[in-house]
Amino acid sequence: MTSIFSKIVAREIPARIVYEDEHLIAFHDIAPQAPVHVVVVPKTEEFSTVTELAAADPSLLAEMVSRAANIAAELSNGDYRLIFNSGESAGQTVFHVHAHVLSGDLAEGSLGGK
Ligand code: 5GP
Repeated sequence: MTSIFSKIVAREIPARIVYEDEHLIAFHDIAPQAPVHVVVVPKTEEFSTVTELAAADPSLLAEMVSRAANIAAELSNGDYRLIFNSGESAGQTVFHVHAHVLSGDLAEGSLGGK
């Protein structure tokens, strides 16, 4: 089944894309939870969770992390929170692995929110 994020990769649904290369795409979350809230997604939908991705392709996971840092530097002050919701009861709704990059004035409330 084609995930919603694969539809963004294929330009079947619109998104505010901030970065794209051979392996990754990144775009603004449709329901932002922070001043900057970008989702970084591997183009492959082979992996549902970060656990699977880390086991199968750690270098792709490392690309996601370094891209997250670059995006936070470009769109904010370089500080960021990186969240992988893994499993339905942890808030995962799209089962195509993705990282939430949150940036901009997040210190209040420490780990709370997405
Ligand atoms: P999850 O809940 O799986 O960790 O994260 C999925 C995220 O994708 C949510 O934050 C949700 O707002 C975002 N999202 C879902 N559908 C779309 C969409 O069509 N476009 C964009 N830009 N974000 C989406």
